[in-house]
Amino acid sequence: MPIVTTRSVVLQVHRYSDSSKILRLLTRSHGPLSVIARGALRPKSRLSGLLEPFAEGTATFYLKRNRDLHTLSGFELIRERQSLGLDMIRFAGASVLCELVLRVAPREADPLLFDTLIDALDHLVQAPIEQSDGVAAARIWQLVSLLGFAPAVEVCIDCGRPPGAGQPARFDLQAGGLRCANCPPSGRALAPADVEDLRSLLAGAPGIRPSPSQIALLADFIRYHASEGSHIRSLDFLSTAAR
Ligand SMILES: [Zn+2]
Repeated sequence: MPIVTTRSVVLQVHRYSDSSKILRLLTRSHGPLSVIARGALRPKSRLSGLLEPFAEGTATFYLKRNRDLHTLSGFELIRERQSLGLDMIRFAGASVLCELVLRVAPREADPLLFDTLIDALDHLVQAPIEQSDGVAAARIWQLVSLLGFAPAVEVCIDCGRPPGAGQPARFDLQAGGLRCANCPPSGRALAPADVEDLRSLLAGAPGIRPSPSQIALLADFIRYHASEGSHIRSLDFLSTAAR
């Protein structure tokens, strides 16, 4: 039973019995894992108060081969990120990021995915309050793209030509991309400014204020392409918070 020590971020927390917690972690060296933190709910536990969603730390656990639940023996806190809970948009954005990783991330280690998630959570913590919705949307699109579900927004999915600057376009949810104004009109209509905003968000540009319809497009895209049949509850919360 090897002991593993690795940087980890807490994706989800469940109570287990009166005194323990079960955590879903994304670890940098072993991918997503579930661990049990025995006694973590006891006030005198050295883990008390540390193991909350979005917290990052150096986790030590006993890795049991062929088992789904491992035993956490230590967690040295690096960042708690509890301030994400003070603002609805930040909290919803962080929740979508973590839930996406939970539902969709590959089982094996992916240091780039880990670093991308950490960077996204840090940017959500640091963003000025009036930019939090833009940062949330851009970082969620970044994660969706990294997970292999990037939409096509640079060229039309039908004719392959770039939609003209200043032209409206349509977003075909099922086909996963933009259709230019010269092709048969099918999909959600986007005004020229919406097309530009969508591209900017996908390029990670700061300072875009996504409209509620941009957030709805992001949420619907994830539901259709990236949820793998499971209901990502925090998407509903994000859509409500962004109104
Ligand atoms: Zn076209």
